[in-house]
Order: sequence, then C-alpha cells, then structure tokens
Amino acid sequence: MIIDTHVHLDDDRYRDDLDIVLKRAREGGVERFIIPGADPLNLTRAMEIAQNNSDVYFAIGVHPYDMEAFDAALFEKYINHPKCVALGECGLDYFRLEGSDEEKKREKEKQKEVFIAQIEIAKKYKKPLIVHIRDASRDSKEILLAHGAKDVGGVLHCYNADEELLSLAKEGFYFGIGGVLTFKNAKKLLHALPKIPQEKLLIETDGPYLTPTPHRGERNEPLYTTFVAKKMSELLEIPLETIEKITTQNALKLFNIS
Ligand SMILES: [Zn+2]
Ligand SMILES: [Zn+2]
Repeated sequence: MIIDTHVHLDDDRYRDDLDIVLKRAREGGVERFIIPGADPLNLTRAMEIAQNNSDVYFAIGVHPYDMEAFDAALFEKYINHPKCVALGECGLDYFRLEGSDEEKKREKEKQKEVFIAQIEIAKKYKKPLIVHIRDASRDSKEILLAHGAKDVGGVLHCYNADEELLSLAKEGFYFGIGGVLTFKNAKKLLHALPKIPQEKLLIETDGPYLTPTPHRGERNEPLYTTFVAKKMSELLEIPLETIEKITTQNALKLFNIS
C-alpha cells in the first residue's frame, strides 16, 4: 500500500475523470490520498471529494501564490471537519518574485506574515503542517523554528533537496518525495535522499504537476507514486515492499489517519 500524501485532486484537470483516476490508483496499490489546500476557492470541491471517498482526506491552506485569499475565519470554520487532516500547503516561494527590490521585499514580508498566521492556526487546532518551500529555505526554516512549529510537525512537501533543511527531521518534520526523484537532472535530491531518516520519508505526486519519468509531459496522477516508490527502493537499496510499508506508516502517523 502507498499513500499519495500530496495530490491536487480538486484541480480542473481531474474534473472529467476523477473516479477513473482514483480507481486506477487503488488497483495499483495506492490506498489513501491527501488533497492539500492551495486556493480557498477550491476548498468546497476538495471537501466534497473527501466526503464522497472514504480514502480521500483534505487540508486547508493557502499556497504562497494565493496568499491574498488567506481568510482565518474560513479556516477556523472547516478545520475541524472530520476529513481535514492538516494545515497547508503554506510556506514561502521566492521563485517568481517580480518588480523592484522594494516590491520584492514587501512581497516576501507579506508571504511570511501569511505563513506565520497559518502556523498559529495549525498549533491552535493541533494539525500538522504541509509546507511548501521554493528558493526560500533559510527564511522558512527560521520561521518554523521561531514559531514553534515543532508542536505540530508536518511535511516539507516536494522536498527541495536543500541539506540545510535536513535538521528539521529532529523538529517533527517529514520529507515529501515525488516525481523529481525520477528526473535525470535530480542529482541534488539523489544525494540528499539517503540522509533523510527513514522514519521521516513520505511519498507524493503533487499531481497534476511534476509527472515522473516515464510519463513526463503528461498529467500526473496518484498511480504514479509507484514510480517514485520504485526509484526510492533502488536508490536506498531497500526492498520495494519495505519502502511502501515505511512510508505508509509514516503518513498514517503524521496525518493521524488509519
Ligand atoms: Zn507546493
Ligand atoms: Zn502542491
């Protein structure tokens, strides 16, 4: 059994064939699915999918690109939903910052503010965090440490292979590994992978994005976690069944599901 700990099933690109996508995944051994929050506009869709499928869970959160949509009251309204298992994705993403230095600085400050507000909600309701970090390792780590994120822990989803973040394993953080692991140019991640404690490894697709080899260029889907698990097994020289077992146990524990 594999758990896809990060898949945007509420994305429009699954709208026409979601049931088939889920069926394919289940038949291939993927048995739990977690939909991260990104844009609150999709929240009702994510909730609906989780209500209609006993093996699907969701999270509430605002991606740094959608931070203008952050609404603490809305979060508090849904966070105690029985299928809501986490807070996120939230975090920092400096990859697409635009404008003058002054504008970039303001944007960074705003992202930090919204990130911190979400950490506080996670702590208040005791939900783990799904953290998105891109080109912002140092600031993200600093915020997680300074704001006591250790109390709830979480996952650094789509772990960016920055070894500076590895010490967060001791702070209750897991590392979400996805399709990037199968890319030819993923040298950094290949190097970092063995340094992640096994009890902190998670598997994800980030579907519909980041499709693994041999399906690059197509829409990603939860079944393709199988390629990630296989690659992980080869790289770590651990039997595939053991990889599946370890990562599943890790996910069940972090998200408090059965
Ligand atoms: Zn993300
Ligand atoms: Zn995502």
